[in-house]
Amino acid sequence: MATSMIVITGPGIAAYGFPDGHPFGFDRHDAFLAELRRSDCWPMLERRSARAASREELEYFHRPEYVDRVIELSARGRGYLDLGDTPAFPGVYEAAANVVGGTLEALEGVIAEGRPAFIPIGGLHHAARGGAAGFCVFNDCGVAIEAARRVYGIRRVAYVDIDAHHGDGVFYGFEDDPDALFADVHEDGRFLYPGTGSRGETGQGPAAGTKLNIPMPPGAGDEHFLRAWEEVEDYLERAAPELVLFQCGADSLGGDPITHLAYTEESHAHAARRLKAIAIRHAGGRLLAMGGGGYNRSNLARAWTRVVEELAAPSAVRRQAGAV
Ligand SMILES: [Zn+2]
Repeated sequence: MATSMIVITGPGIAAYGFPDGHPFGFDRHDAFLAELRRSDCWPMLERRSARAASREELEYFHRPEYVDRVIELSARGRGYLDLGDTPAFPGVYEAAANVVGGTLEALEGVIAEGRPAFIPIGGLHHAARGGAAGFCVFNDCGVAIEAARRVYGIRRVAYVDIDAHHGDGVFYGFEDDPDALFADVHEDGRFLYPGTGSRGETGQGPAAGTKLNIPMPPGAGDEHFLRAWEEVEDYLERAAPELVLFQCGADSLGGDPITHLAYTEESHAHAARRLKAIAIRHAGGRLLAMGGGGYNRSNLARAWTRVVEELAAPSAVRRQAGAV
């Protein structure tokens, strides 16, 4: 049977996490993989390993002096990369470069082969061009948007984020770029880190009015998400992207230890299914999903597995074509 999608797995990305009981521990990759193996879609997946992103690739998005700082703290093996959320450990540079390399490997597959791809330990959406933030050392989403432009000549890239936290590193990294399309459904910043992403934040300068932020009240569940999602779809249909990136953070499910939303994994499945159809309509099927946050292990395993199941399923368009 031909494989239907690409999933990036392996020790390269599993090495990204933080020690000493940190919520973003090293066990998230294996928790997901154990659930995915039990899914009926497992035989349809082509698993690939990450490679390390080169320094040049990291600098598509990040400032050289920040890359220097990560290298220095990684060698020292202690201290913090930000004000206290994101600790350094020996080898953090290599682990973070593998996450970016894994996302770029997935992007290459998406563009060259027109198949969807998923990377579990990716979607590190808080890192800024010049610094770490919120458990995120390098912003693989930001590097992927820049790579789409520089390497593949794709301008209009949609970034869709349903993690409980606002994707501030991506938003502010492309705030004045009208071709970096951005739709983010997240817990209201008055109640959750990083505190940004209000309705009024729609972009700056030439990009004013081009980006969509939808804050959700604490406790919002699937019904609330589905209503917000309709607005995301309207936005994407108008935006007509050439490539779709999907940050499907599982910390928006009920029971996450550090957030206050209450979706089930079916919100994630719905978003994945609809984004796949949008990517087929507008972007030649080019859709790359990244795991993002999620600190309750069974939640992240179920939500990400449902996303992969939807992306691996035969597409609605192909089913229709087959019926004719
Ligand atoms: Zn998050």
